[in-house]
Amino acid sequence: MAKLYWRYGTMDSAKTLNLLAVAHNYKKQGKRVALVKPRLDDRFGARDIASRSGLRAEADMLLEPDSRLADADFAELDCVLVDEAQFLTPGLVDQLRRITRELDLPVICYGLRTDFRTRLFPGARRLFEVADRIEEVKVTCQFCNRKAIFNMRQVGGEPTLSGDQIQLGGDESYVPVCYACFADRLPLEGLGDDPP
Ligand SMILES: [Zn+2]
Repeated sequence: MAKLYWRYGTMDSAKTLNLLAVAHNYKKQGKRVALVKPRLDDRFGARDIASRSGLRAEADMLLEPDSRLADADFAELDCVLVDEAQFLTPGLVDQLRRITRELDLPVICYGLRTDFRTRLFPGARRLFEVADRIEEVKVTCQFCNRKAIFNMRQVGGEPTLSGDQIQLGGDESYVPVCYACFADRLPLEGLGDDPP
């Protein structure tokens, strides 16, 4: 049976670059891969799988929350690569899990562990629960040399804990930070108590 891989990291940890490199290697060997991502909105470029390094590719498949994955869509493939997997619904993760067994097809998911309030994304939670291999893609904190574990939201350059978990088209940005640098800038008390 093929494996389900969950490769998680913070913003700027080169997850998408890693995904595109894996896709490149498969294709170089004459193998077929499917690039998949959840659809968040219909903006121009929604199919883009773009790394901050400048490398980019187009998704072969966009998944809706209620998508039903048909075996026929995955026939003749050697690997499925999923970008932004934190935005998958738990049900979609379970369908990808099923594919690894029923089609003996490896699925490699890349995404964020937690949101800007330090809480697991629903898709990330399910991947931690059911993946065979869990691997961290690491990057250094924006402000020191420790490993980053959080994504700090900034609006106008100021750190904030306000707003929706997924904000589309806003002027916010995210930086990877360690626990200490996060705690220096924002109150962490009570974040674990909120409903996820
Ligand atoms: Zn730091």
